[in-house]
Amino acid sequence: MGLRPNLLTRRTAGVATSTLALLLSTAAVGVVPAASAFSAAPAEVCAEPADAHADEHADEHANARVAKGGNAKLDPNHLTAAQVREREADLAAAQRERAGFRTGAVAPLATVTIPVVVHVIQENSTRAGGNITDSMINQQITVLNQSYAGSTGGAATAFGFQLTKINRVTNPSWYPIVQGSSAERSMKTSLREGGKNTLNIYLGELSDSLLGWATFPKRTLDKMDGVVVLNESLPGGTATNYNQGDTGTHEVGHWLNLYHTFQGGCSGSGDSVSDTPAEASPAYQCPTGRDTCSTAGKDPITNFMDYTYDSCMYQFTAGQASRMLSAWNAYRAA
Ligand SMILES: [Zn+2]
Repeated sequence: MGLRPNLLTRRTAGVATSTLALLLSTAAVGVVPAASAFSAAPAEVCAEPADAHADEHADEHANARVAKGGNAKLDPNHLTAAQVREREADLAAAQRERAGFRTGAVAPLATVTIPVVVHVIQENSTRAGGNITDSMINQQITVLNQSYAGSTGGAATAFGFQLTKINRVTNPSWYPIVQGSSAERSMKTSLREGGKNTLNIYLGELSDSLLGWATFPKRTLDKMDGVVVLNESLPGGTATNYNQGDTGTHEVGHWLNLYHTFQGGCSGSGDSVSDTPAEASPAYQCPTGRDTCSTAGKDPITNFMDYTYDSCMYQFTAGQASRMLSAWNAYRAA
């Protein structure tokens, strides 16, 4: 997802200055070094950064928050071409495995209801400490169902979502949730529930001005598997321009094997989906007529897998729907 122009204001209002300074200092360093701690799978993490550019317009304190040009450093999800090749080869291998397994047996699924376990990570019992309402969580599930059903204007996908549990956990050592940290690993190792088909969503304040991050699917279940989402990005939250629940939609897209629409830029196979026009770089806010590649089609700024405002993004394509279902049957189906 994209930027959080209100971050400084929000944090200044609700969080001690020392905490803010710590977060700013972390943001300046970036998460690339931390992500390297995932030596086994650095390519499997998608994180959504704040956007310094838009902050310049939206927040007079922007220069103090995220250094200009720091965006790429903050985003370990900008996969390299080699990482994409590795993931695509793995998908093909997983599909071959499943095809062999299924000979004369179970047909691939055409519709999928995904059980969802939501872990609310809290520092304390206050709203600023992460105690968001059940109502917001229920509304987030509704947004997921509408987005993936195509009822907001995009292609219908195979996926529906059923909330099975809200797990509230007060643990200051896990708050904020720091991308790539040992605390994140500890949190997920302790809390993750269900099989490969179970979507675990972790909600909290997040490190590095991030709106969320996700793991891509793997052939073997990994305790790190799941989606982390900024709690105030849920519908009705305080993350201005990012409080309609589309961070959740976007991160679940990664969990279902989608890349960003700007993956690979203008050349090559891009996001490995044929009906999303190529895009040179992330789009922020809600630009008009953006067209960054000479290939056919304007930039897919309304796609859930770009970085625009929640109010701007409303669709998956048929190609993305197909890619997600293929990946489900290769990786997550029982
Ligand atoms: Zn993303």
